[in-house]
Amino acid sequence: MHTLWLAEIGADDLDRVGGKAASLGELAGAGLPVPSAFVVSAGTYRAFIEDTGIAEALFDAVDVDSDDSTALAGAAERAQELILETEVPPAVREDVLAAYDEMGDGPVAVRSSATAEDLPDASFAGQQDTYLNVERPDLLDRVKECWASLFTQRAIYYRNEQEFAHDAVDIAVVVQEMVDADKSGVLFTSHPSTGEPTTIVEAAWGLGEAVVSGTVSPDNYVIDRESGEVTEVSVAEKRVMCVRGEDGQTVERSVPDEKRDAQVLDEDELGRLLELGERVEAHYGSPQDVEWAIYDGELYLLQSRPITTIDDPVEAAGSAASADGGAMEGQSDDVRLSGIGSSPGTATGAVRVVDKLDNLDKVEDGDVIVTEMTTPDMVPAMKRAAGLVTDQGGMTSHAAIVSRELGVPAVVGTDDATDRLRDGQTVTIDGDMGTVQVGEHEGATDDSGDGATTAPSADARAAPTDSQHAPVKPMTGTEVKVNVSIPEAAERAAATGADGVGLLRMEHMILSTDKTPARYVEDHGERAYVDEIVEGVRGVAEAFYPRPVRVRTLDAPSDEFRQLQGGEDEPAEHNPMLGYRGVRRSLDRPDEFELELRAFARLYELGYDNVELMLPLVTDAEDALRAKSLMQEAGIDPEKRNWGVMVETPASALGIEALCEAGIDFASFGTNDLTQYTLAVDRNNTNVADRFDELHPAVLELMGQVVATCRDHGVATSICGQAASKPEMVKFLVDEGVSSISANIDAVRDVQHEVKRVEQRLLLESVR
Ligand code: PEP
Ligand code: MG
Repeated sequence: MHTLWLAEIGADDLDRVGGKAASLGELAGAGLPVPSAFVVSAGTYRAFIEDTGIAEALFDAVDVDSDDSTALAGAAERAQELILETEVPPAVREDVLAAYDEMGDGPVAVRSSATAEDLPDASFAGQQDTYLNVERPDLLDRVKECWASLFTQRAIYYRNEQEFAHDAVDIAVVVQEMVDADKSGVLFTSHPSTGEPTTIVEAAWGLGEAVVSGTVSPDNYVIDRESGEVTEVSVAEKRVMCVRGEDGQTVERSVPDEKRDAQVLDEDELGRLLELGERVEAHYGSPQDVEWAIYDGELYLLQSRPITTIDDPVEAAGSAASADGGAMEGQSDDVRLSGIGSSPGTATGAVRVVDKLDNLDKVEDGDVIVTEMTTPDMVPAMKRAAGLVTDQGGMTSHAAIVSRELGVPAVVGTDDATDRLRDGQTVTIDGDMGTVQVGEHEGATDDSGDGATTAPSADARAAPTDSQHAPVKPMTGTEVKVNVSIPEAAERAAATGADGVGLLRMEHMILSTDKTPARYVEDHGERAYVDEIVEGVRGVAEAFYPRPVRVRTLDAPSDEFRQLQGGEDEPAEHNPMLGYRGVRRSLDRPDEFELELRAFARLYELGYDNVELMLPLVTDAEDALRAKSLMQEAGIDPEKRNWGVMVETPASALGIEALCEAGIDFASFGTNDLTQYTLAVDRNNTNVADRFDELHPAVLELMGQVVATCRDHGVATSICGQAASKPEMVKFLVDEGVSSISANIDAVRDVQHEVKRVEQRLLLESVR
């Protein structure tokens, strides 16, 4: 028999039917309302490739060096062709069609269910295809396409990376009745951060994809499980919904006006969802994260997974408090140096003074790097270090950004640490207070807050453990995203539970090669340059998939490029901040820009449809239109891909209407630059640092106008400058109706709470 009904399957059948089908079978067996389905077993796929004699050719075809992108593309094409062009044996054909006829004759969803569930979730989930609205004549082709999706470039690449044999993975296919949802969403059977007995429901119009992928801000309902009372209702503005398009694929539509601000769920539906949650949790014996849908008044359960994010907030808050308190106590008269606390946490370790020419190998696990200013090639050493101290730099310097992302406590801008500290000396640094003390000081705790006075090891740090990094998030209508500058920080950034990446700065990937783009291409060729970008972005896009990752095209000023090999060819500029950087440089060097665009096109080919393209330092709509036509030339369809601009110049803020008309999907405030250009205050000049104020009324006025105009045009707005971490800025922007806020890794948790607070106040005000 080639097919199995859900009723015949349970959680133990992973090898026979893959992870997705096993979990659906388990839920159906518990009497829960899972839409009817049968499964084309994993054994059927295996028999198909073996009995038709294609297995050997298939596994030979994918035996390639996956870092060779041409070979990888060829392997995927050949493997898929072998499967798609081979006839399904008649016995399989008959069994599948007979099962379909027995289920009824309506449209079905055809979903892949791979057996290799022991690969990390993030790397495997969502890689295989799902087809919606499939009718009988296309059913067998779609099943074959699911089989073939085991051999996309991305899947082959990942199995190679994980050293997972290609022939050790099988694939089953779930054929399930379509639930053309009127409304859908997710439900947490217990509070996802505190574990309290409250059920939380998120709901939006249409299909669940919109909620799960984060394209829509859903309504949020809190139900007290003991009394059954609905204690909180937050109705979001729901601008888009996912529906089935004519060709069966999911498409985004705008929500009709009368439904935008309407509450999705009524009391009766919430009662039924509460009951469903109780049954699922009782069946598994642990809190669950459930996907549900309502179609024609019927409630369906689509998927359930355990909630793994419940932590103990009391303990987390306690450890944070003791770390801070301890540091204050330790801060006595013997503070040797002070600077800007630019990456929170405290650490004790041996000083390693590193100058630019020095061999970084001398930095060992647990050392404190002391340097004039970090350079991109120091990142590997920074990963090993317990802490970082620099002479120069501010909150937005390379050192500050990178150490925050790595979770390494840092004090920057001490002026003379490299003169005053000696190699081997033990120091204790406090990245909150901005102090460096000689010796081992009480209260210097490692990240776990257990009171140890030794420096945290790089390994201990790798797992996000403190309250800021715990993967638990308050639910907010406004999305809270995270900024990433170095691909190495991707996993930590993803673990914050952020709704995506609001800014991935591409220049750090280039700067870390130590060569200017032109020199890199000269030495290694265009393909290697494109691969360098693809590799850097891919790590982040994968860690966040399917959450969106906004990748910014190159934006390094000529003075940063000058430090690299090939830098001697950079133009000499009196004022690099007002000079040759951002999109203006890209438009002036279309050949170099094209290579970046090729990297985007390749990422889309690899299946990273969560990648978005963002243009920096745009002056006006003409910049955007010129970049848009270069995107088209590079094979990127601006209608299909999300792209947008940074609003960093007063000109772009004042000209936002024309930018919206140019077709952007989003505008994101780069307040570091918007502030410097509005106030005429060089962001790197300490003489005028006290005048640098992102909350200046002139800056806020520009921002408020942009949000309002974008809202009128259905264009999303965001902030990704440093000011996103300031509570006053969060309050201002949420009040104005911004779509998302993108903060540094260390600030994500606080911003989530601040956003939640502001949203609740707005709701309260609206009902008072
Ligand atoms: C900004 O200008 O606010 C921004 C986020 O870009 P960068 O700091 O990279 O210039
Ligand atoms: Mg900027």
